[in-house]
Amino acid sequence: MIKFLDNKLFRYLSVFLFLNSLILPVKSSSALAAWVLNTNGFLELRTKSNTNLKAYFQKANQLSGDRFWVDFPGELKNPRKIKGNGPIKEIRLGKPNKGKTRLVIEFEEETYLNPLTWQMVGLDQNRWRIKLFNPKYSFKKIGEGLVEKKRENIKANQNSINKKKNNYGYLKLPEVKRNKYEVVIDPGHGGPDPGAIGIGGIRETDIVLEVSKIVKNLLSEKGVKVRLTRKNEVDLDLPPRVSFANNTNADIFVSIHANASRGKRRDINGLETFYYRGWRGRLLAKRIQKQILRVSPGSPDRGVKQGRFYVIKNTRMPAVLVEIGFLTGRLDARRLEKIIHRKRLAYAIAKGILEYLDKVG
Ligand SMILES: [Zn+2]
Repeated sequence: MIKFLDNKLFRYLSVFLFLNSLILPVKSSSALAAWVLNTNGFLELRTKSNTNLKAYFQKANQLSGDRFWVDFPGELKNPRKIKGNGPIKEIRLGKPNKGKTRLVIEFEEETYLNPLTWQMVGLDQNRWRIKLFNPKYSFKKIGEGLVEKKRENIKANQNSINKKKNNYGYLKLPEVKRNKYEVVIDPGHGGPDPGAIGIGGIRETDIVLEVSKIVKNLLSEKGVKVRLTRKNEVDLDLPPRVSFANNTNADIFVSIHANASRGKRRDINGLETFYYRGWRGRLLAKRIQKQILRVSPGSPDRGVKQGRFYVIKNTRMPAVLVEIGFLTGRLDARRLEKIIHRKRLAYAIAKGILEYLDKVG
């Protein structure tokens, strides 16, 4: 195929930045709607919703300086060049091949970039941000179009509830009938059983307990009664978790875990949700999986699967087991270390649960 990079970075970034896919027909117009390179060194993009982006970096050679580029589906109408300033030599918009759009940022020599720390962050269904450099000299922003424009009209009725523009508006939690539902949340492991241990020593037991408590608070605010199988670092075997749940009138059971790969492979990342039986369990798993993926852009969708885990097999209500990422994975571990990401995951799980309760009742 095309010869991209000779260094490892290519794979690293492309995996990193490979976002959930919706394949557009070749003839469609460019998915890139607006872009801006801000004075603080952040590149922001607005695309069509659910666009599949790929980003690349290539070190300078005799012909050109360091280059960073992003490929978008859909064909660009007018290829163009924009003169840079400060550390930016030139920005080019082109079509590398039919049906594609490429945004290239070429840097001046000696800009001391650190692409290994680069991470494209999905702010929204259609907005992305990546920090490319630390401005050392004055730099005037360059861009085209409005990156912050509101989402497409199709989504208007969903969003009309949001009073102000909010990057995390999609995390707004649905309302359900108050004091009607009961949910058991099971934070995996605990006590002498730390579960998975990840890069830098992060422990599954700590992370899942914290996420579970946030989920509890969020659901409680919506009038849902929540019980946790454990509230602190205690050693709790699996059968008592199940009998605890089975002795309640809970509508659903949600066990929260984080993964580890065999051999602690850093290239294995992703999220998955298991159920054991029934369409209800499957529906609950699907709702949760969809939401946790939305807050984890670039992390692979390992899917909704049937699994024979003790706690979901033996509980009598619809039950799922959520794996919120790999503590041993480079991408997931870095995120799971951050409280903001753990909060987003908790929001996402709560949202999936509320959607399910609202639908199935
Ligand atoms: Zn676990």
